[in-house]
Amino acid sequence: MTKQVEVAIIGAGLAGLACAIELQKNKIDFQIYEASDGVGGRVRSDVVDGFTLDRGFQLYNPSYAEGKRLLNYQDLDLKPFTPGVAIRDGKRLRLVVDPFRSRDFRFRLLRDLPGNPFSQLGLVRYFLKYLITSDAQIATTKDISAQTSLTKSGIKGALLEKLFRPFLQGVFLESELSTSRKFLDVVLKNFLQGIPSVPAKGMQEISNQLAAKLPKEKISLNTKVLSISGNKLTTSEGEIEARKIVVATDPTTAISWLKLEPKKMYSVTTWYFKADNSINSIVKAKPILFVDAQKTGPLTNAVVITNAAPSYAPHGEVLVSASAISPNENADLSSVKKHLSHLFGVNTDNWQLIKEYKIKEALPEMTPPFSLVSSNQINKDLFVAGDHRVTSSIQGALLSGTNTATLVKVSLGL
Ligand SMILES: Cc1cc2nc3c(=O)[nH]c(=O)nc-3n(C[C@H](O)[C@H](O)[C@H](O)COP(=O)(O)OP(=O)(O)OC[C@H]3O[C@@H](n4cnc5c(N)ncnc54)[C@H](O)[C@@H]3O)c2cc1C
Repeated sequence: MTKQVEVAIIGAGLAGLACAIELQKNKIDFQIYEASDGVGGRVRSDVVDGFTLDRGFQLYNPSYAEGKRLLNYQDLDLKPFTPGVAIRDGKRLRLVVDPFRSRDFRFRLLRDLPGNPFSQLGLVRYFLKYLITSDAQIATTKDISAQTSLTKSGIKGALLEKLFRPFLQGVFLESELSTSRKFLDVVLKNFLQGIPSVPAKGMQEISNQLAAKLPKEKISLNTKVLSISGNKLTTSEGEIEARKIVVATDPTTAISWLKLEPKKMYSVTTWYFKADNSINSIVKAKPILFVDAQKTGPLTNAVVITNAAPSYAPHGEVLVSASAISPNENADLSSVKKHLSHLFGVNTDNWQLIKEYKIKEALPEMTPPFSLVSSNQINKDLFVAGDHRVTSSIQGALLSGTNTATLVKVSLGL
């Protein structure tokens, strides 16, 4: 027998969950169908031998407006990283830290910041601009690539190659910096307003907290939607008829089902290691992101996660995360360990790999001309939500879910 539901939401990632929360607030009945065995989509964590491992290294910025609205930060117990980067530049370690928000190493900034005084002035100008730029201005200014935007502002040469590119390629998951200037502006603005952090119990806590706002029986796990035809869904568990349908799947599935403009997906691999305590002598055991100015190995970045969140490891153990983007996502373990040794300046021979996560479809591209908000209504009964509709981020996914719920509400005449 075909089951009837008011609103069917396909996917229990952050967009699907945010959509359901907004529908519930408006007393609109819904059912979420999720193919996998848990909620969160790309924001999930595993516990392996007592270590908390996020499925791919990622951070939450507490300045995300939609996150602020939907999440309880006190319960998340956010653990901030040092606002800055440690740049391995040959034998030299440059510590570039926001001097206003961190007392650590701030006196080293003038000595360690790469580039000449002209490009450094460009950097100051760029950041000052964000203090007075509204979101509306970011959205409407002519779009160009992040790289063009930086160089136009004077951020070039060593400052671009040793600081900006190594740092931003880990955010965009692409090294050409061909991502839209709009997303760069959003990222830098968020970075000035909040310090990237992880919840004490892992990124999955974000997803769990959202799901906990919904009745358990409203989320059907292990239920894959196989096709949509009009108002009918064929799922692995049977047929469903819905008055309204929200496709909150991963971008690739949504794009192919709804015939949306194709988007390239960027990939990343994260390796988690159990390290030894010698690493704690490095940069006074601060949770700072390491990058390599000279690209001497496959890694894009690495960090001692337990320096921010000791709760990620059992009994005072040390957890290191190391990530590589294309074309290095298939790097072999020995070159990863060798690169880690160079980055941190310690012997990594005895480090044990806990787990490797290869994420083939981590982030949808955001190349110019890019719109910060795309239409989420396909026809009168069919809607779409997901990071690919706003920005490839947690904020983007949450906002998209909420916006789509509002469209559904209007289409129901409420
Ligand atoms: C490694 C990595 C690092 C990242 N780093 C950051 C970061 O530091 N900061 C940041 O803000 N963002 C980061 N992001 C991006 C952020 O995680 C995503 O933008 C966001 O989680 C996307 O959520 P979503 O709900 O749009 O999609 P998804 O999370 O992809 O959710 C889609 C859901 O739909 C389900 N689904 C798919 N097909 C079907 C089907 N046929 N039937 C039923 N269910 C289906 C999937 O199982 C999944 O649960 C990162 C992402 C990755 C992967």
